[in-house]
Amino acid sequence: MNAPAHFSHAGDFPGLRTRDGKPWHYLDTAATAQKPRIVIEAMARALGEDYATVHRGVYSRSAEMTLAYEAARRTVAAFVGGREDEIVFTRGATEAINLVAQSYPKKARVLLSTLEHHSNIVPWQLAGWQVDVCPLTKDGRIDLDAAQAMLTEEHEMVALAHVSNVLGSELDVARAAELAHGAGAKLLVDGCQAVPRLSVDAAALGCDFYVFSAHKLYGPTGIGALWGRADLLGAMPPYQGGGSMIDKVTFARTTYAPPPQRFEAGTPAITEAIGFASACDYVSDIGLASIESHERELVAKLRETLRKRNDVTLFGPEESAGIVSFALDGVHPHDLGTILDEQDVAIRAGHHCAQPLMEHLGVPATARASFGLYSDVDDIAALIDGIERTKKIFA
Ligand code: PMP
Repeated sequence: MNAPAHFSHAGDFPGLRTRDGKPWHYLDTAATAQKPRIVIEAMARALGEDYATVHRGVYSRSAEMTLAYEAARRTVAAFVGGREDEIVFTRGATEAINLVAQSYPKKARVLLSTLEHHSNIVPWQLAGWQVDVCPLTKDGRIDLDAAQAMLTEEHEMVALAHVSNVLGSELDVARAAELAHGAGAKLLVDGCQAVPRLSVDAAALGCDFYVFSAHKLYGPTGIGALWGRADLLGAMPPYQGGGSMIDKVTFARTTYAPPPQRFEAGTPAITEAIGFASACDYVSDIGLASIESHERELVAKLRETLRKRNDVTLFGPEESAGIVSFALDGVHPHDLGTILDEQDVAIRAGHHCAQPLMEHLGVPATARASFGLYSDVDDIAALIDGIERTKKIFA
């Protein structure tokens, strides 16, 4: 199988080479994606000749930067089918979930699932929610029939991953929204692993909150977004206090700006917002439909190859989005990862910030290969060669 001809984008990514200029088989895009030159250049301009603060400056450079920052918000909003007043820039998905867990006015019961990332578990615990856990189907999807049976009127929130960072399994978001709303709860979707590989319209899917990080979407670290329905954001108190989020401050009393500013205390990540928008444009120009089908072909190819081996256990459903977790008999995933690194193949080995899922799978860790729009069959071939070599070492 050859990668589709229109996928010649690896050349856009300076990070895909080893220090001595050889191809680097980067199979850890689910942890963080490599950055295309266009994003790096947009950020360099924003940090260089265009640099100034936003919102407060009376000079023209600051006014221009403010326009660029707010244009970035519109681009990020449009990327998930939202309006600009519905996008709060956060440090990432983790901060976005913490924000909702802390600021949502009624902290009651939240329904999570076994496959959630720690960042969609711990914030709810910290903020004092009662946590219930929806089980998975045999093939590693969130069991929405079980969710339906578990939901009660005490549930104010259902918070689920759109795509699992370990199994690649996809949530039927529209059905999850229907179930949550049927029980009188809101739905927060963790879209970290979905937005780089599926086209998302958060409002049309019925979500109430949708969170994601720029760095998994070929953009910079240090920024992400909370999309929230305007009426819900409007009813939430601030998450942090400081500059920019206020209307009027006195020592006696402070009033707050409306969302999204209410939730953006302090000087924002200006350069990162520009990079975030540039990454959204880059991905939109290529087209999520072709990225999705490209990654699905790679997943099918890798799973097919691994399934033929009698020394590999595959986790997760056949139809998974961009991510393949597996175990190689007799070899700890960390050892596999270390030996693969000697052959310029980068995979992830560990619990992937999903310890409850590891417990459910009955393993301390998995090896995980995850694809990006720049991945190709050569990366799969290098991984398989590396597995062969590892087996010889451990024989
Ligand atoms: N949710 C999922 C499904 C993830 O994969 C990740 C990142 N591994 C996160 C949440 C947290 O994202 P961040 O660390 O960028 O806040």
